[in-house]
Amino acid sequence: MIPVDPRYLPPSAMEVPRFAGIATTMRLPLRNVADPQGAEIGILGVPWDGGTTNRPGARHGPRALRDLSTMIRMVNQATRAAPFHTARIADFGDATVNLTDVGQTMTLVEDQFSALRTAGVTPLMMGGDHLLSLPALRAMAKDGALGFVHFDAHTDLFDSYFGGMRLTHGTPFRRAVEEGLIDPQRMIQIGIRGTTADGSDRAFAAAQGIRIITIEEFRQRSLADVMAEVRTRVGSRPTYLSFDIDGIDPAFAPGTGTPEIGGFTPFEAQCMIRALDGLDIVAADLVEVAPPFDATGMTAWIGVSIMFEILCVTANAVARRAGRKPVICEDIPDPGV
Ligand code: MN
Ligand code: MN
Repeated sequence: MIPVDPRYLPPSAMEVPRFAGIATTMRLPLRNVADPQGAEIGILGVPWDGGTTNRPGARHGPRALRDLSTMIRMVNQATRAAPFHTARIADFGDATVNLTDVGQTMTLVEDQFSALRTAGVTPLMMGGDHLLSLPALRAMAKDGALGFVHFDAHTDLFDSYFGGMRLTHGTPFRRAVEEGLIDPQRMIQIGIRGTTADGSDRAFAAAQGIRIITIEEFRQRSLADVMAEVRTRVGSRPTYLSFDIDGIDPAFAPGTGTPEIGGFTPFEAQCMIRALDGLDIVAADLVEVAPPFDATGMTAWIGVSIMFEILCVTANAVARRAGRKPVICEDIPDPGV
């Protein structure tokens, strides 16, 4: 099997070393949201953290993720997936945002995701803070409520902060459920832990029928058992995948605004995302990497490594929607390095 389109392949690392050149995401071609035709998956950075309730810095996430992402190679050794040969993936640069205007940013980001969706491009957002999932969902749920797989230390299901402020990174999925963007019966949150302000998020989840798997429950079950429940819960219909980097234990990934101890290992995160292969993923995000707290760059590296896993299962979903078979390593004549 040959590549879908050689123009969408990163350059050979034997000719252009991975440490050289301009840092586009995973060394993919750079495209523009104003001209998205031809791409099947669009990685869009959103350098904005105006929804942050405590330590800011995620606005710097996309640039740090892009830099570390140049270390990513072509093939997933565990699953054999070859995402860059399976689907036409491009870096769409960074979204236009307004750092000091939350409302305008919500509109700008929704419009840019809508442009990708209209062109048939499946978006992968790199944040930015978690409020940005809300405008992405507003753009992607135009045909009806989506399933939602959510890895995070926090539920992000609170009603408001600071006296009625309803748009923060602690509230996006309350809004998304209220607006009918997410089907609560097809929603599942994994890794929830840490201290909390009150029980209002859990009360909302219980009233709506949202499934929460705390880190305590996760630790008492096998990963395979948990992920079987996730697949059953969201089923075969269109689903949004959201990964907050603070789901990972801060011993590994300290570079985030609201760390909580007792989290996933990076390997558990890889295994969980691999277990999502077969779902109809129509959009995804990786959010809350905050480089000012990431002294070694390891949080950004874990972030892009998770993005690669997300790309593998998302490219497979894109290929299946197009009636193609996902490409694996053994299909490629020279997979490169
Ligand atoms: Mn979050
Ligand atoms: Mn979180």
